[in-house]
Amino acid sequence: MARILIVEDESNLAQGLLFNLKAEGHEVSVEAEGDSALETLRRESFDAVVLDVMLPGKDGFEVAATLRADGNYVPVLMLTARSRSEDVLKGFAAGADDYLPKPFELSVLLARLNALLRRMKWPHGSEKSDAAPDEIAEFSFAGLRIDFDALELHAPGRTVRLTLMESDLLRYLTRNRERIVSRKELLEQVWHVREDTDTRAIDNFIVRLRRYIEEDPASPKHLQTVRGVGYRFMPNPD
Ligand code: CA
Repeated sequence: MARILIVEDESNLAQGLLFNLKAEGHEVSVEAEGDSALETLRRESFDAVVLDVMLPGKDGFEVAATLRADGNYVPVLMLTARSRSEDVLKGFAAGADDYLPKPFELSVLLARLNALLRRMKWPHGSEKSDAAPDEIAEFSFAGLRIDFDALELHAPGRTVRLTLMESDLLRYLTRNRERIVSRKELLEQVWHVREDTDTRAIDNFIVRLRRYIEEDPASPKHLQTVRGVGYRFMPNPD
């Protein structure tokens, strides 16, 4: 059983989700506005949030970004009106952990939500066997240690909390270290978004990762831009 907050202003959809999540044994609350959702999230703790993008007042992007800025890392499944990659990436950039384009099948939402809940339990041990066998748990370089499952990056004197997406992106880059990876490849392999046009939306993530891992983010040594192609992660650039 998990505590789940649904943030959705279409009351039919919200009530349908409420009914079905309760039937799965979860404890469920509903908020219909971004601001009231943030208040509830400051007051109570949840295991996951189903967050619609189109909301009165603060939209889902703002709610997710505010949560993360507050240091709240509750898993967020975002409901996007369109599956355009720019919207999807905007959601991830705001701190969402997964997304589902509307309209969706209820069974798909339940499956994605359960996957998110399960994933957040990994760091605590019991369900680690769900992890794909080829996935590395840690990577160390240049005095930094990334703990992919705990969603933490350890540097001397500080620990950075990562979102699931940041952790997945770092995991992909470390697995493909010293190789040039294109934006398109990252979109497909990390975000599972297929897009023919070259999107710059990934760049926001790279900027954020550089702030975590680079001594001087303005002239990156580890996470290099390869002009016109993409990026290359170099654990030991010299
Ligand atoms: Ca809505």
